Amino acid sequence: MQELIDFLSRLTDTRDWPPRWLCGHWTDFHGWLYIGSDLTIWLAYMGIPLILLRFIFIKKGIPLPGVFALFGAFILLCGTSHLVDATMFWWPAYRFNALVRFLTAIVSVATVFALIRYFNEAVGLRTSSEYERELAIRQQILQELSRSNQELEQFAYVASHDLQSPLRTISSYLTLLETNYGGHLDDQGRHLIQTSTAAASRMRVLINDLLTFSHVGSALEFTEVNLQDLVAEILEEQQHEMNAVQATIEVGPLPTLQAGRTELKQLFQNLITNGLKYHRAGVPVQLQVQAKELGNSYQFSVTDNGIGIDPKHYQRVFQLFQRLHGRARYPGTGIGLATCKKIIDIYGGKIWIDSVPGNGSTFYFTIPKHIQAIRQYTELTSLQASN
Ligand code: ADP
Repeated sequence: MQELIDFLSRLTDTRDWPPRWLCGHWTDFHGWLYIGSDLTIWLAYMGIPLILLRFIFIKKGIPLPGVFALFGAFILLCGTSHLVDATMFWWPAYRFNALVRFLTAIVSVATVFALIRYFNEAVGLRTSSEYERELAIRQQILQELSRSNQELEQFAYVASHDLQSPLRTISSYLTLLETNYGGHLDDQGRHLIQTSTAAASRMRVLINDLLTFSHVGSALEFTEVNLQDLVAEILEEQQHEMNAVQATIEVGPLPTLQAGRTELKQLFQNLITNGLKYHRAGVPVQLQVQAKELGNSYQFSVTDNGIGIDPKHYQRVFQLFQRLHGRARYPGTGIGLATCKKIIDIYGGKIWIDSVPGNGSTFYFTIPKHIQAIRQYTELTSLQASN
């Protein structure tokens, strides 16, 4: 310990040694060749860490920056030891020289360990040509996906659209049948007509909901949407349903967004009407629609005091056609929440549920303040998920 203290306290003491020029027999040529080469190596070694530093600075987010930093320090210390070696010709600070070499030794061993540690990771890093190949494959897949999405969207649209016309015919003929020939039929005959009429009107709702779902994201037109007004408009339209369940609703304050009015209306409408629909028998409905700012996005919540949802179904209810209750108890198609999720996915937000079964549910969702819509939405995933 005493030796170390002594060593450090006399780090730059040069009294114990003669300058290197005076050790042995140096010719001018030999000495200056040594000094000149050491100084050149030092200068070159100083350049490398500067280039590395500039590289790390320009190329932010490069992989393995720690190895780059260690490598830079290693080169810097190697250069310094050459500089000190050259100065020994006039300034024989051998203790200081030993310290620089000791530090260089530590850093070089650390660099070797870091390189060994990161070797596999470094081998795994892709070269630019590998990146380009991967990018080309990804673009091809993306094109294929977007083509199949377009086809699927078109199929859903055409199927739903074209199904409407024969369905209208069936419904009106059923009505005609009942009006003109109902008197000639017995109870069972009339019951069959009524069941068919109900089935046809369910199918109409289903087709309309599917049409809405397939349309989401196909024509995004962003305007300024005052959500306070939008929700007021929805509540006005739902007045009849609200009265039926003695609903009281607390709203907002809600912000104004630059977004698609149609999509936002579908989103809030689905959640509000679900809040009214999935109520507990005999319990007046209480709904709350709220918003709060969360950095770059808004977080909205629609809370009800209804029947609630078992946590094991939190994911399932967002899939197409997934319903937790029979049609006889609660009518519906199982498309509403899938539509909400599709809208939120397109807007780059998140949607989730928090619920106490038997006590009520809260549907949370986030929407970025500046929406950058993903236009090519992969409907395929939701359709597949529901299979
Ligand atoms: P729909 O209401 O037409 O059945 P949704 O996609 O809107 O379809 O909802 C899917 C299912 O999630 C519903 O069938 C219901 O079981 C459940 N659900 C949705 N909203 C609520 C809610 N507020 N409270 C309880 N259950 C709900």
